[in-house]
Order: sequence, then C-alpha cells, then structure tokens
Amino acid sequence: MSVGTDTGTAPRTDTGTAPRADTGTDPTGDDATVENAFLVSIGPGATTLSRNRREVVTFDLEGRPQSWMSAGRTFKRSLASEVFGRRTVDGVRRRWRVGDVADHFRLTGEVGAAAHRALAGGGLRRADGVRLRRLDEAEKGELTRRLARILAWTPERLLGERARFLRAYRPVSILPPDQYGSVVLQATYGCSWNRCTFCTFYQDRPFQVREAAAFAEHVEAVRALLGRAVDARPGVFFGDGNALVLSNARLEPLMEIVRTAFPGRPLSSFVDVFGGERSRRAPGVT
Ligand code: SF4
Repeated sequence: MSVGTDTGTAPRTDTGTAPRADTGTDPTGDDATVENAFLVSIGPGATTLSRNRREVVTFDLEGRPQSWMSAGRTFKRSLASEVFGRRTVDGVRRRWRVGDVADHFRLTGEVGAAAHRALAGGGLRRADGVRLRRLDEAEKGELTRRLARILAWTPERLLGERARFLRAYRPVSILPPDQYGSVVLQATYGCSWNRCTFCTFYQDRPFQVREAAAFAEHVEAVRALLGRAVDARPGVFFGDGNALVLSNARLEPLMEIVRTAFPGRPLSSFVDVFGGERSRRAPGVT
C-alpha cells in the first residue's frame, strides 16, 4: 500500500531500466527558447534544473536528487536512496523499483555539473511564463550555493544514505497520501491491536512504545537525515499504526519533543476507533 512515499517504504518489482546519459546542447545565447534552454527554478523548497526539457532534475535543499525525468520516464528517490520509476503507457501506469541506482545518480550529478558550467558561462535562464530572463546577482549567488551542495553528492555518497536512513527509521509500512511530504516520526512501532484480518501492515512486528529519551534520539537522527530539506516538509506525522492509543501522560512528553524540534508544524496520526475513544486526542493532533 504505502509505496511511492519518500520515506523509504518497501518496493514492489525490479524491472527498471537505467537512464540514457543525454548530453544535449546547452544554448547560452539570447536565442535560447523555453524548449531548448538550460532552465533553472530556485524554489523555497527545491531546485529544479531542466536541460533542453529532455532531462529535468529536482534537488532537495541538501542538494540530493529528489525526482527526475529522463527518456520519457519519471523517477523518484526515497530517503533510503531507493529509486522508483514511473511511466504511463496507453493509460496504464507502471511503477517499478530501479535496480542500478548508481547510473541514475551519475545522470543527476551530470546535470548538476552541466548547470554549474552553464552558470559560469552565463547560459542559465529562468522562465517567467513563456519569457526567459537571465539570473540577477542575488539569484546567481543562491544558485552557486545550491549547486555546491548538489555537486557534493557523489553516487557513492547518495548510496550511503540508505545506512543513515536505517539508523533513523524502522520500516515505515504506510502513510496517508496527504502525509507523504511530512516529517515521519515513529513514536510507536506497529499496532497495539494488530488483529484486523484484512490488514498485514504490522504483522511482522510487536507493538512497542518509544520512551521520551529514545524518542528524542530518534527525532535527532531524523533531523540529521533530512538536513536543510526539512524546511520543505510542512507537517509532522506520528507513526506507526495507532500512536494515539497512548495515554496523554505518555503522549504529551513525546509531543513536546516534536514541538521543540519542529515548531509550528501541525501533527497528524492514524487512530483506531477504540483507542481514539479511550484516550481522546491530545491537543494539537489532527
Ligand atoms: S487497527 Fe489498523 S493498523 Fe491495526 S490491525 Fe487494524 S487496520 Fe491494521
């Protein structure tokens, strides 16, 4: 169920094809068009580089590739540095887990390096609707800083993110779709009920609760893993299956840790009917 999130959830198949390294031309003159220019978007939560519209790569604020398009396919990297491909053919959406992810990371790094060269040569453009414009000095400065972070992520370093993910998280079985972009924190593991016959999400693990000290360590590991990219995550999701089954006396110290680490972000959680009735929702949880 919970495939496609960026929290490193379980893959399904492994039939992906590696991207074709496309080294198309990078027009740098004033005759560049939206179709053939090297475009950049410097957003508050991500940087997107588009080379000739054939390769489009979005990087998170740490400089890690987040999603990209190449050879008519769309790819997405999870926090665990797994790569999932997606393509729609004749109205049928296919999704697969990519085998050789290093090839993809080489491609995204190459697009970052090409953007660096284009910036130095004055060839990058921003698109204001259909009009292109050169970057102003402030934008060049910001993009220079972002490209430095992008270029620091070698394929080997990106592959190492899996180990960091596994130090921060236990398996994340499922998230509500509207929480894919949240900071996921595992206050509990599994489900305290775990007996619904139709549900297999947590059958491989006993229900456990993180006490405050262990939870604070987990929160710090997640913060370190996300780095600057945490700025693009507007909310916090309390996992796993039914964290709100905890009494308010156990829940509120955990929530205080969250409020301190991620101030101002709304909290969400799954809740099972019986546990929710029993414990009543803690203030601030949706
Ligand atoms: S309460 Fe929810 S998470 Fe727990 S077993 Fe039932 S469906 Fe699964």
